[in-house]
Amino acid sequence: MRRSAKAPTGKLRVVPGAQHGLHADAISACALRVTKTLQEAGFRAYIVGGAVRDLLVGNEPKDFDVATNATPDQVRRLIRRSRAIGRRFQIVHVMCHDEVVEVTTFRGPGREDAQQQTDEHGRLTRDNVFGTIEEDAARRDFTVNALYYDPVKNEVLDYFDGVADIHAKRLTMIGDPATRYREDPVRMLRAVRFSAKLGLDLDQATRAPIRDLADLLLNVPESRLFDEILKLLLSGHAHACVARLRTEGLHHDLLPLLDLILDQPQGERFIHQSLENTDTRVRDGKPVSTGFLFASLLWHPVLDEWKRRQAAGEKLMPALFESMSAILETQRKKLAIPRRYDAVMKEIWALQPRFEQRSGQRPFRLLEHPRFRAAYDFMLLRADSGELDEAIADWWTDFQKVGPEEREAMLVPEEKPKRGRGRRRRP
Ligand code: ATP
Ligand code: MG
Repeated sequence: MRRSAKAPTGKLRVVPGAQHGLHADAISACALRVTKTLQEAGFRAYIVGGAVRDLLVGNEPKDFDVATNATPDQVRRLIRRSRAIGRRFQIVHVMCHDEVVEVTTFRGPGREDAQQQTDEHGRLTRDNVFGTIEEDAARRDFTVNALYYDPVKNEVLDYFDGVADIHAKRLTMIGDPATRYREDPVRMLRAVRFSAKLGLDLDQATRAPIRDLADLLLNVPESRLFDEILKLLLSGHAHACVARLRTEGLHHDLLPLLDLILDQPQGERFIHQSLENTDTRVRDGKPVSTGFLFASLLWHPVLDEWKRRQAAGEKLMPALFESMSAILETQRKKLAIPRRYDAVMKEIWALQPRFEQRSGQRPFRLLEHPRFRAAYDFMLLRADSGELDEAIADWWTDFQKVGPEEREAMLVPEEKPKRGRGRRRRP
């Protein structure tokens, strides 16, 4: 096994309860049970990673991960309702009622040569490179993510001064930042996400190499990149994250259209509103639709293309459909939004012109469309950002509230001409 040449080494600090302020009460029953069961069987076991970090900054953890020196097999034998997942490096999922706790064996410095991880047929072989807790800590990305909380002793094991960084509101990469970004360029995006989400400043040395190394993100597999961008957009701090991606020079090949959009006052307002809405929903624990989110990020480019095509004489709806496809294709060359979201995005976009039709049976049909709710919310964003007449948005809001007779009365007389859509030009 080849060891990473510059593996950072940490110096253990045991932080007692009085200094870290954590309490075992804040740990989920499931994670507590796992930790205690392992410890009682003579193993080391700690709550680790995001949960400890989030609790220390005063946020509620999303989920709980446990790190241990027990092997996956040993964990499975000790804990009921658990199963091993993953091929290269096995981890164990422990299922409690509505919660899954991920249990990972301390990892050592892996083999970095990808060829060594495949057998003679090229198939990925298991890469269960177990290590010591010190090695496990050194493999993690940021100091604040390398904290091990022992809920039984109520102490935090801190190898890289993560607790001090939390108190100083600083996000620091473990080891040499440039080396760590080269090992895994996604860490640059994680730096942006954690700093925005946790309100931590990027440490100077951690920040410095990002601009020069930004292009390395091009080598990251598309699906991983998409997952990471999605995490960023669904972090509850999307607005701050996107702003920071731009400051750090990281957005170019991810959402290249974003630059374009943000340069136009109306596009900027629209994105601003949509990210703020998303953030509010996430923070209130409400569901967020990924399709809706990307539909809004790409709306202004679609709109521009649509206007251009109409000006060139194409008909309203065909021009819209062509524009949708063209923009999705352009985007796919950069950050690949999985095709499974296409249908939702296209539906939301395609329903937009129908909000301007408020006569006859058409509003009733739109109301019954299965995607009405999403399309309506989207239309509200357009109105909020000044792209669409507020009166139309208000009309639709009222139209949904009132009874059948009042709806009839609200309808706009049939032959109201549409301005600027080129329809009147038809003989
Ligand atoms: P959250 O789940 O809130 O996004 P997290 O810190 O738990 O944050 P995960 O992606 O769940 O993030 O990873 C769990 C832990 O694994 C991290 O805290 C970190 O210690 C380590 N880790 C994750 N991704 C990397 C990476 N790319 N490089 C190094 N360590 C990583
Ligand atoms: Mg996590």
